[in-house]
Amino acid sequence: MKIICVGRNYSEHIKELSNSKPDKPVIFLKPDTAIVRGNSPFYYPDFSQQIDYECELVVKISKIGKSIPVSCAKNHYNEVALGIDFTCRDLQTEAKEKSLPWTLAKGFDYSAPLSEFYSLEDLGKDVQNLDFSLLKNGETVQQANTSQMLFSVDEIISFVSRFISLKVGDLIFTGTPAGVSSIQIGDKLTACLEGKEVLKCEIK
Ligand code: MG
Repeated sequence: MKIICVGRNYSEHIKELSNSKPDKPVIFLKPDTAIVRGNSPFYYPDFSQQIDYECELVVKISKIGKSIPVSCAKNHYNEVALGIDFTCRDLQTEAKEKSLPWTLAKGFDYSAPLSEFYSLEDLGKDVQNLDFSLLKNGETVQQANTSQMLFSVDEIISFVSRFISLKVGDLIFTGTPAGVSSIQIGDKLTACLEGKEVLKCEIK
């Protein structure tokens, strides 16, 4: 199983990090050891002084595929979750300045807490019309609808699968909206999908 992540997929988030708008999806990977399930706490690692939360819609691939046309992409997934793409912003900034990869800043152990998966059929909504939000210590810090993505889920699947074959169980983190900020030990994060609490994560 692999975890494919999209960067810079919401305009307001691109602005808050002073990045430029991409003309094609920005893709990076996390290893499977990044995944944390069951609302486990996140233990602040000693190699970073600035870790940001990034709440994202996560799509699970349900059918193998390579070079999938946009028009067929919907046949390759039917479940979604919310995840947090924890990012060592200090290490990422250092890497960006040196034009080096973000791998360690993004792919470290436990950097991807994940909720349960929900079928789009049960949610009764299109994948590009889902409300999600993140609360930090009870206060809403991120709020978006997936219609605000620059590249849709289907476009991301089509683009990525030209380069990397998709397999059953692969996950796609589809990018974060505005409102990212740092976490501190003691913070409690809660992610909501369609108004329902689906993921909790305490920083320890
Ligand atoms: Mg992200």
